Amino acid sequence: MTIPQVLTIAGSDSGGGAGIQADLKTFQMRGVFGTSVITAVTAQNTLGVFAIHPVPRAIIQAQLKAVAEDFTLSAVKIGMLGNAEIIDCVAEGLEQYSLPNIILDPVMVAKGGSPLLQRNAVTTLKKRLIPKAHVITPNIPEAEIITGIKIRNEQAVFDAAEILHELGAKTVIIKGGHLENSQSVRCKDWFFSPQNHFVLESPRIDTRHTHGTGCTFSACIAAETAKGKGIEQAVRIAKDYISSAIGHSLNIGHGHGPTNHWG
Ligand code: PLP
Repeated sequence: MTIPQVLTIAGSDSGGGAGIQADLKTFQMRGVFGTSVITAVTAQNTLGVFAIHPVPRAIIQAQLKAVAEDFTLSAVKIGMLGNAEIIDCVAEGLEQYSLPNIILDPVMVAKGGSPLLQRNAVTTLKKRLIPKAHVITPNIPEAEIITGIKIRNEQAVFDAAEILHELGAKTVIIKGGHLENSQSVRCKDWFFSPQNHFVLESPRIDTRHTHGTGCTFSACIAAETAKGKGIEQAVRIAKDYISSAIGHSLNIGHGHGPTNHWG
């Protein structure tokens, strides 16, 4: 038997809640075969990030070569990249192996506030990777940093999406979890493709156990795309998957517990 094969290019989270570990769990649950290129090794748990070791360029290249030359990859999810050199190396690999269906989660900061992308790497991200993204999934702070727009209302979300389109991303999903105050009872994400735009809404779930939500959401979009779903349907499935995973999130560890893939 065969099965759709997907790749995640991201950082390792020793705590198992985010990064490569969240992506592979999501791929498994969505019925696709997950492969991985690790860009950085992080020492972290539910309380925070304690150390980051960027993987050397040659090892990232070797992982990409090994995976791309053997598997038939139908989609690629990109998460934590860490610095400009790694972004450049990954962009080169995407070109060299003509990798399809790039879902780019422009990871910048961990839940506890630790930086996961050097600030001076944002220009390289805009130049080298955003133009290759079939889908980009920033949260509000990431969209603000990339576009330079302060997002305080819905019009600013539309303006930021337009800039992300101009930078070359085909479909833009701006995750609104960071926009509304904690009184809000709904959680909104905005979807913009060249054909369509709409809002995805779900009840706001009051929990601090949300480690790995961004990773899981983008990995699910990659998995569903690899299974042949259209982008709109893939995103709707990912929204349901992540809402359920947050709704049943795990109170393990002593800080921000992880989303629950059996949710
Ligand atoms: N990637 C790695 C390796 C991480 O450690 C984190 C957060 O700690 C993220 C991505 C982003 O996590 P989230 O999905 O919670 O935004």
